[in-house]
Amino acid sequence: MTTFPCPSCGRTIAAEVPPGSAVNCPLCRQVVTVPGEGVAAAPPIQPGPYMGPPQGLRQGMAITSMILGILSIVTGCFPVLGLIGLILGIVALSRANRRPAEYGGRGFAIAGIVTSLASIVIMLLIMVPLLISIMLPRRPVGAAVPLAFGDGGE
Ligand SMILES: [Zn+2]
Repeated sequence: MTTFPCPSCGRTIAAEVPPGSAVNCPLCRQVVTVPGEGVAAAPPIQPGPYMGPPQGLRQGMAITSMILGILSIVTGCFPVLGLIGLILGIVALSRANRRPAEYGGRGFAIAGIVTSLASIVIMLLIMVPLLISIMLPRRPVGAAVPLAFGDGGE
């Protein structure tokens, strides 16, 4: 029998199967491979949400801004995406300008601002005429045009 910590959640797993075979972790249901006898188990790997390189300039916000801006255009200018992308892009750009040693991604931030702005402009170009046509009073086709004079009373 082999006991080893689950690489996903850290719980100790007692496996009755030979090393190298796969077992299901009883806690997190992750499929894990039983390590070899006597071999020290690998330390638990924590898959973090942080995608960028651990060292270097922080540009996550700038990249997020650009992705939101592009998504906003692709998804038919969903206005919230464009607004968030615009705000993130401006914040990321100002950070990159103030602390260039710490924050990077100026190009991403500018791209995020441009795409977000473009999506907002496109949305306005589409939405404003639509809203105006909705808000205008409906005139049924063929309806008599009311005369300017006469009280219309019967
Ligand atoms: Zn587990």
